[in-house]
Amino acid sequence: MSDWCSHKKFSGMCETFRAIGKKAHQRALCSANEGNFSWRIDEWHAGCTVSGTGKGELSETDFTVVDLYGKNQYPDRRPSSEVLLHLLFYWQRRDIQVVIHLHSPYTLALSLMDPDFSYDVPLTAESVLMWGKVPIIPFSLPGSEEIPQNIAPYINRCQVAVLAHHGVVAWGIEPWETYYLIEALESYSQLYYDLYPYRHQIQTLPPDEVDRLCAARKKYFPHRQYLDERY
Ligand SMILES: [Zn+2]
Repeated sequence: MSDWCSHKKFSGMCETFRAIGKKAHQRALCSANEGNFSWRIDEWHAGCTVSGTGKGELSETDFTVVDLYGKNQYPDRRPSSEVLLHLLFYWQRRDIQVVIHLHSPYTLALSLMDPDFSYDVPLTAESVLMWGKVPIIPFSLPGSEEIPQNIAPYINRCQVAVLAHHGVVAWGIEPWETYYLIEALESYSQLYYDLYPYRHQIQTLPPDEVDRLCAARKKYFPHRQYLDERY
């Protein structure tokens, strides 16, 4: 077995994800031991959080290494039960380097109020620049093989999805950028939630401004691929 602890892409990323976990917990995106993180180490291995860990206070022993078939490399550190979901992204897209799963309450609240809720109502410039349509994946038992099956069709077409009655998952190249997708989606959802009683009076961005923002997104964030460019 390789000594993964001395592997630069293991210990360095543990530090990054400890910081992300702290921020996510402060931002109330994960309570108790909710959520899990992973990252690609090399062609055949990924680092991931250990099952049952509080993401606000992760230590280096709260991370383990699995191969892309899910085989754990540290027998005394049990990987998250949702690791199968993470591995699917690394199998399906070779460019994906990180996967972050959290239980964002306001994002979830909107999907509970309306299972067809569209997170692409252009309320703010940020929402247009950061994500397009956000699919809501039907409920499956957390940790089951059904979640990967249901999310597979979207992996090449967007970067963040809501798991109905469960949480949010984002995937990308860089850890903080991927985390900020979830945090920004939560801020957007909180804004929409606060406006919900007045939703019929909401002033959205005009279509020509949305077009200009979409053009800017294509230019400055070419790696962001979305289901649909149009709002
Ligand atoms: Zn979960």
